[in-house]
Amino acid sequence: MFDEMKPEVLVVGAGPVGLFTALSLARKNVSVRILDTGVWACTHSYALALHPAALSLFDELGLKERVLKDAYPVSKVAFYDKQQRRAEASVDSPGACLAVLRQDNIENILESELEKAGVKVSWRHEAASITPADDHAKVTVQKFEKESRGYIVAHTEWVVAKSFDLEPRFVVGADGYNSRVRRALNSEFPSLAPAQYYAVFEFKTDADLNHEVCVALDQNTADVLWPLPGGNCRWSFELPNFADPDIELRNESLRKAGFGDFPSERSKDRVLMSRGESAPVLDENNLRSLLAHRAPWFQGSIDKLSWRIVVRFEHRLATRYGAGPLWLAGDSAHLAGPAGIHSMNLGLFEGADLASTLASILRGGADPQILNAYNDRWLPAWRQIHGLQNALQPGPAADSWVAAHAPKIAACLPAYGPALAAMAAPLGLA
Ligand SMILES: Cc1cc2nc3c(=O)[nH]c(=O)nc-3n(C[C@H](O)[C@H](O)[C@H](O)COP(=O)(O)OP(=O)(O)OC[C@H]3O[C@@H](n4cnc5c(N)ncnc54)[C@H](O)[C@@H]3O)c2cc1C
Repeated sequence: MFDEMKPEVLVVGAGPVGLFTALSLARKNVSVRILDTGVWACTHSYALALHPAALSLFDELGLKERVLKDAYPVSKVAFYDKQQRRAEASVDSPGACLAVLRQDNIENILESELEKAGVKVSWRHEAASITPADDHAKVTVQKFEKESRGYIVAHTEWVVAKSFDLEPRFVVGADGYNSRVRRALNSEFPSLAPAQYYAVFEFKTDADLNHEVCVALDQNTADVLWPLPGGNCRWSFELPNFADPDIELRNESLRKAGFGDFPSERSKDRVLMSRGESAPVLDENNLRSLLAHRAPWFQGSIDKLSWRIVVRFEHRLATRYGAGPLWLAGDSAHLAGPAGIHSMNLGLFEGADLASTLASILRGGADPQILNAYNDRWLPAWRQIHGLQNALQPGPAADSWVAAHAPKIAACLPAYGPALAAMAAPLGLA
């Protein structure tokens, strides 16, 4: 068990990226503490698949079989227009697959492995202020507890039960969309493209899901069918003309209050969602109509609608990943659309990279300047994902439909870097 009050590395945020980074550090014998304002890990699927390459990260931690036990393996991404299948991309290295499993499942596996490594997540602990110094950071942590309040009508409230300071050598900001570590770092988080709304439905179906992800492409939309374990599936429909009035109104007030397009402390949610099942857009009739208009080739039944939600995805990239003692990984550094599940997967790679870089400084005596290369590795990778640099382009071998939809196809491929190039090559994209 590491000394909780004297961690060498403090990981802020116990989402998938924070948990993965903390476990990778603990396995390298770095003394680590991880805390999260939440009460426990997330309770739904959210990002729902591990890229084939990310699965190899779990293999390195000895967890691949554990992950695959609960996963639905996928070997292809198929692209359709309204009428028919037009192209497909394969996960072609032998034995590799895209592992579809719920995000809460991934988080639970990581949390229980961390506990075995002697690190317990400090839930209900918030990094309330973070001040970088030359060779450490000062972090004030607040622990929340529920307290009964009220006289005439009793109720319970979260209150600060205690506050204490930590002085870790490094802080990993895996604290998501509204990252306080990113703000302490003075890294900007500009928006790179307009936000996209998606209506997401999960249901049981009799369709043959055939171990593939299906993407229905049109001029303005990319709708994705994910097979899930147990004969379930998720359909995500892009809503180009949709805007949630509450969210847009709040954003407008933030803009007027001088926050520009920068997520502020008042903008709490990492990904903004409408849950109202009564919203017409989430009605089962609307699901049937979206299927009939955009993917009439999907003939499966809609047996039991178990989850529906509207999610707003932003496109952002931090201007730098870190400096001195503060370093970012995951959604704190980038936000992207959902189809290629890049946000979580690349976040896991960043966590693995950061953990081995920090371990070589703390255990191997390496010069802390090597952290600058972390920044130089991930900013270009993300510029490519956002189509700002080295975007995939159709070559002479690309079919005309693929060429016309190249940017959308590229955004849906579950890979990055050389693995993305290998997956895109048979489509004639380079
Ligand atoms: C409904 C929904 C559907 C989604 N679908 C997809 C999808 O299809 N594809 C895809 O790629 N992604 C999807 N996502 C996004 C995906 O869930 C995120 O990319 C992923 O969770 C990022 O992981 P993370 O660990 O970086 O950050 P997060 O999971 O956001 O974790 C950050 C953690 O930091 C904690 N925290 C924040 N501030 C502090 C603080 N000051 N002190 C302590 N703790 C703090 C938060 O409580 C949170 O637990 C979806 C998200 C939602 C909500």
